[in-house]
Amino acid sequence: MNHDVLEKTVLRPSTPAARSASAEVAVPPQIAKTPQRPGIRPDKPVRIAIVHDWLVTYAGAERVLEQIIACFPDADLFSLVDFLDDRTFVRGKPVTTSFIQKLPFARTKYRAWLPLMPLAIEQLDVSDYDVVISSSHAVAKGVLTGPDQVHISYVHSPIRYAWDLQHQYLKQSNLISGPRSALARMILHYIRNWDIRTSNSVDAFVANSAFIARRIKKVYQRDAQVIFPPVDVDAFSLNEQKEDFYLTASRMVPYKKIDLIVEAFAKMPQRRLVVIGDGPDMQKVRAKATPNVEIMGYQPFAVLHDRMRRAKAFVFAAEEDFGISVVEAQACGTPVIAYGKGGALETVRDLYEPRPTGMFFDEQSTDSIIAAVDDFDANSTRFSAADCRANAEQFSARHFRERFFEHVQQNVPALRSATLPACDAGAPVKLDGSPPSAQSAQAAASMRVLAIDQSGVLGGAELSLLEIVKTLRARIQVVLFDDGPFRVALGHAGVNADVLDSGALRHVRKQGGKLPKGQALKGLASLVRATAARARNADVIYANTQRAMVIGAVAGRLTRKPVVWHLRDIVSAEHFGRKQLAIIKWCAKFGLAHVIANSAASVRAFADLTNFDSKRIDVVFNGISDAPFEALRDVSQSVLRARLGLPEDAFLVGSFSRLARWKGQHVLLEAMLLNPKMHAVLVGAPLFGEDEYEAELQAFVATHDIGDRVHFLGFQHDIAACMCAVDVVAHSSITPEPFGRVIVEGMLAQRPVVAARAGGVIEIIEDGVDGLLCEPGDAFALAHTLTRLQSHASLRDRLVTAGYRTALQRFGTDNYVSGVERILKKVAGKA
Ligand code: UDP
Repeated sequence: MNHDVLEKTVLRPSTPAARSASAEVAVPPQIAKTPQRPGIRPDKPVRIAIVHDWLVTYAGAERVLEQIIACFPDADLFSLVDFLDDRTFVRGKPVTTSFIQKLPFARTKYRAWLPLMPLAIEQLDVSDYDVVISSSHAVAKGVLTGPDQVHISYVHSPIRYAWDLQHQYLKQSNLISGPRSALARMILHYIRNWDIRTSNSVDAFVANSAFIARRIKKVYQRDAQVIFPPVDVDAFSLNEQKEDFYLTASRMVPYKKIDLIVEAFAKMPQRRLVVIGDGPDMQKVRAKATPNVEIMGYQPFAVLHDRMRRAKAFVFAAEEDFGISVVEAQACGTPVIAYGKGGALETVRDLYEPRPTGMFFDEQSTDSIIAAVDDFDANSTRFSAADCRANAEQFSARHFRERFFEHVQQNVPALRSATLPACDAGAPVKLDGSPPSAQSAQAAASMRVLAIDQSGVLGGAELSLLEIVKTLRARIQVVLFDDGPFRVALGHAGVNADVLDSGALRHVRKQGGKLPKGQALKGLASLVRATAARARNADVIYANTQRAMVIGAVAGRLTRKPVVWHLRDIVSAEHFGRKQLAIIKWCAKFGLAHVIANSAASVRAFADLTNFDSKRIDVVFNGISDAPFEALRDVSQSVLRARLGLPEDAFLVGSFSRLARWKGQHVLLEAMLLNPKMHAVLVGAPLFGEDEYEAELQAFVATHDIGDRVHFLGFQHDIAACMCAVDVVAHSSITPEPFGRVIVEGMLAQRPVVAARAGGVIEIIEDGVDGLLCEPGDAFALAHTLTRLQSHASLRDRLVTAGYRTALQRFGTDNYVSGVERILKKVAGKA
């Protein structure tokens, strides 16, 4: 044991007084005359501590935590570990952590310290607080409290893998038998005993559903108040005008049973069904569709929202703990026909209840669905859109805050006349209604940015801009020159992008071609005017892509606003046509105040081309969040492979770039010919019109008869899951890569990375240390390197450990976002 760590984190926890003099709720003196506990003094404000298991991501439990903090914004925060990149939802609060924070591999393997977690949580000293609120899905509820303190525990679930899910957990972790299994079983046994013992010192339990309340009753023999977790119902709007079709929408994975719904509607040709979503079950679903069933595939939020608002009913056949889409449909005023098990029973009011909002079917079978739809039609006048909306409102963040605050007040008489803090009016508000951290609000208030990007698709440049927008969203206006999934992703991040005329830039290609004339020139002029009109309210124009930069440079001159180009390209003849390069030169001379480059390689090419003043160029490496990778830590590779339809036992080499010749997927396929024991997984689509290249790749696979070893997965949103499903991440660009996000992502996925030695790549990878490099375009070298990796597990392990460290230390989102923000402020004159 590291005594230094113990000394710092256990023996001398920071005192609450030193940490925050304001972790308290002010209470008018008259209300606390009869304190429930001797410790809560009538003349003193109530001090509150919030304890959460671990802070590493922003998932369901953290959304609840965010709202608990919104109820008690001055409370102090405690957690076993804190590795948050984005601290917005904890309002930038400092967090007192346990000794696990400093144990080896805590950032990535904090769960492996499970045996020490009961001990660690007991070392968090909350004895100076009057009220302790734990938000617990593991051990937070075991924090030590005394008889003068009130402890309220919001239980997301009693620690799942120790209780009824133990056997499933052991199976998934391959711990069925043997000494490791015995050890795991002993540890879980000890955790169960500890879990029950510590339930005695909780004064009031809150559960996130009746189902979890039942679990609490079963294991702790205690009653719990049910307060549902918050759903973003405000993103959905009521529509009373329904049309004659039914809707189902979800990821197409087996347990969602979309195929069953489609099969049922195939037997009801007079009724129309619209199906939205994509996933491994798509083919099965398509095969069952009849002309009355419209399969729309994945759709952006706007389309999903529109159909949800217009549908006469939403059909849902899965068994879920909660089922968010069921609430979202009701928020649109749309009744639900759902399988009557799990969360839906708690979120939908049945026909036999007053003001029904839907109805249930008893079995996951086509006959049962058909009977329910018949019944629904016969009773359709009994459902009102307003009732559905009102029911959904119960699950809003605001509702959560009101109910939770009230529950705490009931248990802490000294708080009874305190009022629920409003979400700061006028402050920039996140999608779910909570304000951002003081830091980002302050930064935002001092600068207005107009960000422009030519593309509507989700390429690397757009994903990198998204990360910036998430932090600066309060004061950033985004303009796109094309519509598509990027706009939708921005919407999910809380920013409504403006899409300007998408036609004007479409024919302008990187590789040049004719310069625009006539109509096209007119189109460009109107694009410049529209951009300039928006730039008038901004302090700085921030151009994220090359063609947007050209428009921005002209708009910047018209409006006298400084323009910063985030250079994410190697501006050389390998990537750009002659005329394009000439235009870039012109812009550098007359239109750019500053350049942020994603690598030194990008800077070199740009400086060679333009002789741009080096003082006005900065390199800021892209930053990639580890949260999506972290969220998959406990998901086994075989589950991910099954989800993606990949073979369970094969050695899989993944490529994760859009399909484009210069990305060199053909080199990987050639390497496959040299090692018949490997499979290639090609993730990505031809985003910028290189469909011919995709056809060529497919023809190559057919000609060489390697179809059983090459898996085309198309564009995927969940890159973390795809990467964790393969054994090696390969990058095979044949010309210098400006940066290569996929390389850092491969490191975060803890997969060995093999990449092409050129451009920005060599600034990320140290050959042989945290990845392996091959000459670009050399299929033989790539095959040889992959074979080496296949047969050397120790080499793979070494690269993975070092690669992961590199990704976290050098390519985190904090450095990236603050680096860009600092430069924008400087250029905007707001530094
Ligand atoms: N990507 C994705 N889905 C896909 C293929 C790729 O989201 O199907 C992502 C990939 O994870 C990476 C980005 O697209 O974040 C590509 O960035 P990179 O810097 O590697 O290349 P660029 O597209 O910028 O040339």
